[in-house]
Amino acid sequence: MKHLLYIVSVILLLISCDSLHATKKGTQASISTKADVHSYANLSEISTKHLHLELDVNFENRTIYGVARHEMRNKGADTAIFDINGLMIQKVTIGQKGSEEEADMFIDKMDKDSVLGQALMVPIKKDTKFVNIYYQTTERSDALDWLDTNLTSSKTKPFLYTQGQAILTRTWIPLQDSPSNRITYSADVKVPNDLLAVMSAKNPIQKNKEGLYHFEMKKPIPAYLIALAVGDLEYHAFSSNSGVYSEPELLSSCAYEFDAIPKMISAAEKLYGPYQWEQYDILVLPYSFPFGGMENPMLTFANPTLLAGDKSLVSVIAHELAHSWSGNLVTNRTWNDFWLNEGFTVYFEQRIMESIYGKEVADILALIEYDELKDELTRIKASKNPEDSKLHLALEGRNPDDGMTDIAYVKGAFFLKTLENEVGRSKFDAFLKKYFETFQFKTVDTKQFVRFLKKNLLTKEHEDFDYQSWIYAEGLPDNCLQLHSTRLDQMEKLADDFTHNKVSFAPKITYKWKKVGKRRKKIKNVEQIKFQDHIVQEWQTFIRRLPRNLPQAKMREIDRYLRFSYSGNSELLTEWFILSANCGYASTNKQQITAFLSKVGRRKYLMPIYEALLLNKASRPMAISIFSQSKDHYHAVSRKSVEALIRETK
Ligand SMILES: [Zn+2]
Repeated sequence: MKHLLYIVSVILLLISCDSLHATKKGTQASISTKADVHSYANLSEISTKHLHLELDVNFENRTIYGVARHEMRNKGADTAIFDINGLMIQKVTIGQKGSEEEADMFIDKMDKDSVLGQALMVPIKKDTKFVNIYYQTTERSDALDWLDTNLTSSKTKPFLYTQGQAILTRTWIPLQDSPSNRITYSADVKVPNDLLAVMSAKNPIQKNKEGLYHFEMKKPIPAYLIALAVGDLEYHAFSSNSGVYSEPELLSSCAYEFDAIPKMISAAEKLYGPYQWEQYDILVLPYSFPFGGMENPMLTFANPTLLAGDKSLVSVIAHELAHSWSGNLVTNRTWNDFWLNEGFTVYFEQRIMESIYGKEVADILALIEYDELKDELTRIKASKNPEDSKLHLALEGRNPDDGMTDIAYVKGAFFLKTLENEVGRSKFDAFLKKYFETFQFKTVDTKQFVRFLKKNLLTKEHEDFDYQSWIYAEGLPDNCLQLHSTRLDQMEKLADDFTHNKVSFAPKITYKWKKVGKRRKKIKNVEQIKFQDHIVQEWQTFIRRLPRNLPQAKMREIDRYLRFSYSGNSELLTEWFILSANCGYASTNKQQITAFLSKVGRRKYLMPIYEALLLNKASRPMAISIFSQSKDHYHAVSRKSVEALIRETK
């Protein structure tokens, strides 16, 4: 803990000098051993119960000026420790609004990799309950994505959104940034009066002239789920408790694409109990959003790439909705337990998909992900952290984002699917329902889950299941459930036949003579495999099966008849652009690749396409040039990831 013991002068740059009061007492702040290695907060001694935010969102300066008023449970601590990263702290006061007294504060030096940021230490009295932090955000507030007007659909109004997970909330709010502590929050937010503000809370559905909005989140949530977006937003209701926000230009597409939401909510409730957050809305963000979706409670943030036009990507919405139980209701206590959030959510997502679209479609979706998991396992095995393929992670000293791999998501889900298959669905569902009931509005870690599993399922049902090798061992256990889909097998056969010239996508025209009355008539018959004969996930399987050195003529034939380079579906485009880079076709569809990479900021798509382009000598310069033109449109999370990729592939 030596990094907590002194204040370094460079940090003073971040603090207005007249508000820094260093005393000897404060430098001796006692730090207890913490359960969460990604937070400086001394939560076992003092923790926030309710946070009230006063925020002034200034687009001209790209700055939020704020006060974070913490109402705390104090067990007799003499110091309150908060996490900050990239924030300028003006002053700290103690006491309720109206009777505040300015307090001393100490800001620790930035940690070595600037992952955790800094500890903000405030000496307090043993009965102090209210700590108020006056601050402003800076260019280094990575949670904030400020978008110029040219990056929005309207091209006339700017946009701002936040992304808190995993440990970025501390870059826009000074707080105890650990998922182990749940807090309620309220906020008064001032924005330009032609824009609407929405949060992960009860939301307005239209703008007001003053640009002043009040928010309440009355259920306790972890800090990473505090979220804000400000833009030219309109609302479309699907039902009395669900709807979608977006910029006006996208609203009708959103209304069409996501109309299954009320059905999804009832399917989810039928499975694992009532939806506990009152309202479920979606906010469709501009294209730079780095994730498919973020499960901010009451208001999922969604990527506009989900607007495929054919509802083919709604499983992402099922995923974010499922988080209303796994993740938001029952939360991973630390980022080492991230699989408890994501593995359960992918499992639950597939169950929602199954109840609405049938088992065959749900299995196809699961198999596509299983394929990706196998690639991820190979990558992790060869990496410098092969232990990252365990479900329970050890990320001390590393960025918790390192744990956001298919291991938590897909290996986690396959663990639960295998377990379900072993004990039977009805017993497994009863167990999961009980799990959500028992831990609702609480946090849970892997050890606690294991105890609960043993007591409420394995011992109770006299089942012998090797959960240890799933949770604590690398790789994929031998007992992993094997899924099978005839439809995907047929797509693989189609890919093989096409590769070996047994099948073509060109129309096959034949003529038949048919008797019409007394005369014989020549009837033209056109046989052709069409894009719409299969769902997008089947075509993904088809592309994945094609050899990585497919001849250019074959690539051109596919593009001519199936139009992959011109698809509106980002999943399909990604598979196709990867293959294009692999087999040297990227110079032919360069225009489409460039258009996609310069518009979309979602990391899931950017990373594999850039990687494929960078690894091929011929297309590497093209990748670097697209990146240098597009990087300002990307969120910091995506930008940093691609920069690392460019370095690693050198
Ligand atoms: Zn998720």
